[in-house]
Amino acid sequence: MGRLKRGLYIGRFQPFHNGHLEAIKYVLENIDELIIAIGSIQDSHEIKNPFTAGERHYMIQSALLEAEIPHDKFYIISIPDIDRNAVWLAHVRTLCPPFEIVYSNNPLVARLTKEYGETAQLSTIPFFNRMQYTATEVRRRILEGENWEDLVPPAVANIIKEINGIKRIRDIDASEGDLF
Ligand code: NAD
Repeated sequence: MGRLKRGLYIGRFQPFHNGHLEAIKYVLENIDELIIAIGSIQDSHEIKNPFTAGERHYMIQSALLEAEIPHDKFYIISIPDIDRNAVWLAHVRTLCPPFEIVYSNNPLVARLTKEYGETAQLSTIPFFNRMQYTATEVRRRILEGENWEDLVPPAVANIIKEINGIKRIRDIDASEGDLF
């Protein structure tokens, strides 16, 4: 057997939604193993970043196992932001197993991979139902009391309810004002 081909997929996952899950399924058709990196782990309890790194880890792992993605196909790793974009990819490398492909549609991640990727190449991901499958839309619907559960895997909906996430988002909004 040749060397394993490993990719990196980074996101804030605030929260993890069906678009993220479809992206991971798509990527896993093309590589052997995927590192799912939770970014901005220092942020939580803000209207745009309501969930902690631990809660996001719980959501992602539960959703992937619910989707019957074998556990030996993925790693979930937490990455804090740093102040210097130019050394960000090197920072990510110190926290992850080796990877050779970065999968992202985020313009800054794409730029930093192209400029500082060295041995890593960039690959974009098709957008899945981009109008609805966005974390902003999930948070907006939670806030407005609209149907948000269809936008996330069932495991994530259950976890958001288990950790009292709906009340947290509404309470943060009430104290911060509408920042969408
Ligand atoms: P995100 O959760 O918004 O998205 C994760 C990925 O999924 C992105 O590539 C996004 O385009 C893709 N995606 C979203 N919806 C999709 C859909 N419906 N179909 C298909 N793909 C979809 O996270 P993000 O904001 O892209 O995360 C980037 C992370 O990298 C952040 O935490 C950021 O802080 C971090 N970062 C940090 C530095 C630094 O510390 N200096 C520099 C660059 C990036």
